[in-house]
Amino acid sequence: MTANPALDLAAAVRRGERSAVDVLEEHLARVDATEADVHAFNTVLGERARVAAGEVDAAVARGEDPGPLAGVPIALKDNLCTRGIPTTCSSRILEGWQPPYDATVVTRVAAAGAVAVGKTNLDEFAMGSSTENSAFGPTRNPLDLSRVPGGSSGGSAAAVAAGYAPLALGSDTGGSIRQPAALCGVVGVKPTYGVVSRYGLVAFASSLDQVGPFARTVGDAALLFDVIAGHDPADSTSLPGAAPVASARLGEGVEGLRVGLVTELVGAEGLSAEVVAGTRAAADALAAAGAKVDEVSVPATVYGLSAYYLIAPAEASSNLSRYDGVRYGHRAEGAADITEMYVATRSEGFGAEVKRRIMLGTYALSAGYYDAYYGQAQRVRTLIIRDFDAAYQSFDVLLSPTAPGTAFPLGEKTADPLVMYLNDVCTIPSNLAGHPAMSVPWGAGADGLPLGVQILAPALGETVMFQVAAALEAMAPAGPGSSAR
Ligand code: GLN
Repeated sequence: MTANPALDLAAAVRRGERSAVDVLEEHLARVDATEADVHAFNTVLGERARVAAGEVDAAVARGEDPGPLAGVPIALKDNLCTRGIPTTCSSRILEGWQPPYDATVVTRVAAAGAVAVGKTNLDEFAMGSSTENSAFGPTRNPLDLSRVPGGSSGGSAAAVAAGYAPLALGSDTGGSIRQPAALCGVVGVKPTYGVVSRYGLVAFASSLDQVGPFARTVGDAALLFDVIAGHDPADSTSLPGAAPVASARLGEGVEGLRVGLVTELVGAEGLSAEVVAGTRAAADALAAAGAKVDEVSVPATVYGLSAYYLIAPAEASSNLSRYDGVRYGHRAEGAADITEMYVATRSEGFGAEVKRRIMLGTYALSAGYYDAYYGQAQRVRTLIIRDFDAAYQSFDVLLSPTAPGTAFPLGEKTADPLVMYLNDVCTIPSNLAGHPAMSVPWGAGADGLPLGVQILAPALGETVMFQVAAALEAMAPAGPGSSAR
């Protein structure tokens, strides 16, 4: 049985065997030891976290139950609003801004007894795959400081991999939880669109964004998923009714389940041979454990990347229009009139990748091009949904690589945006379909760095997705992610 650090800590704190304050100090000591090199955090919440941990201990002393995450340190991506705590999206344009409210997921984890240890670094406004697009400097992969942690939730993935917190929250618009999870050797989950509230998540591309968990184990990821999932009246895209339970069938194995290896995704452009071999080995392991495994074609997924780079920038160009120097953060000084002030503020406040997306999106939405680009991309999206639906007639879950390779050296892919975009070729289709998908560590590459495999499921299929993930975790070849802490 895999030890589950978050589950085990919460159980010990609830029983009064461990103090939440001690647990926190242990994690803060790890932050002190290596954070100067890793730079997982934009803000470390030392004193606030000590107060929160003290309240958990006081509740236990009074005989109360602080909740399923009692005393578990958690890292929060810095695009999740935290009341009175800077929320930067790793952008200069939000400099000095402190949200007047907490995101629903932040409220939920706190109500479950978790202790927020910090706000994690990201690619500016979650646009990127390496965390190198942060205005505050890159995060480094704790397993090899010369490599990226992936992105855009690179700080959250690194915080978990470095042992700063057993749990973290990230956001995933095109792969930003799953890809960094794979590169850092941890578990990362993108829930079904609408299952986790996005109230208080700073919007990037609203039809794609979802908040989700990072953890060291599948059991811990399920624990956090079950805390954050569920209807929220404050988010108009939140699904009504009960959310699927991630922890319901974790120990049940895969006997009789039908698993489809997606032909187009194992054959996608730019995948390293060891990634393909790893994914096939994972499929073989599931077959040996009693699953019915076959290849399946999901043809329209080959257009996923192209459709995403029209839809996501189009929505971003609209969402980011609110940063005008009036309502939030940074304002350029000395402009002659308001138009000049807008232009100067946005020119100074946004980094190169964000400007590129705003320009791409504005172009895709402009009169005369709208049908050819945005409209066409939306039609591709419908085809992807149809092709997935057809595959799920015959399969319970699908399998693919998560990322094209292991963690790459800092600077290697910054010169050519298209090369960076290719990182998400296997993760984007699930965002376009609104389906859940997760990455589980699966051994290591020749460079000794972790590999991940992706499990995809139909909408609201989290229970079976986690069931398969737990089986894979139990059979996975040893990886650096499993021994680093
Ligand atoms: N890497 C993708 C992008 O740059 C996905 C980002 C995300 O999921 N937030 O848009």
